Amino acid sequence: MPADPSSRTAGENPRSAASAPRTVPSPQSRGSGASAVEVRRSSRRRRTVSAYREGDRTVVLIPARMSEAEEQRWVSVMLDKLAAQESKRMLGDAELAARAELLSGQYLGGRARPASVRWVTNQNTRWGSCTPAEGSIRLSHRLQGMPEYVVDYVLLHELAHLLVPGHGRRFWQLLEAYPRTERARGYLEGVVAAGRLPHLSGPGDDQP
Ligand SMILES: [Zn+2]
Repeated sequence: MPADPSSRTAGENPRSAASAPRTVPSPQSRGSGASAVEVRRSSRRRRTVSAYREGDRTVVLIPARMSEAEEQRWVSVMLDKLAAQESKRMLGDAELAARAELLSGQYLGGRARPASVRWVTNQNTRWGSCTPAEGSIRLSHRLQGMPEYVVDYVLLHELAHLLVPGHGRRFWQLLEAYPRTERARGYLEGVVAAGRLPHLSGPGDDQP
């Protein structure tokens, strides 16, 4: 089987890829946040092709011996597959809203009532964000596929921001009831440390 469409992050560790990466403009970025495609050739990779999002780029891993024509074809195939996966996941917004209501009831006395909760694919530098004035919460699609307690934590974090802006003591007190706050934060730190963005802080970043 030449391709592994199901693995957003599977494959070799990008940092161990033997050849120098090169970045080319994506021929088909569809406004989903992917602005460039980086093709990495690996001599250890024989037949499999995989692709994943990293920051605002899409990384495609291919075998070192692949021809230019094959490369172009596979990049196109993998971009399509990623886009299809992402659009499928976007249908989960209803479940996400239900989850938010449950978490708010369980840990925040039902006081956090978002007007909208949804996945977004254009949020590459933060896991989640909220706009209290609008009551809107957005979660990065990068959380999809992570353990449920991690997604719950980020969701609860953003819900808490509807009640308390900033990250002061009052804010963290709201999260004390959630038993896996530390574990979830450790998990997310590990993901960042492993080099799979979102990056660490930048201006205006919320960093659950
Ligand atoms: Zn925050």
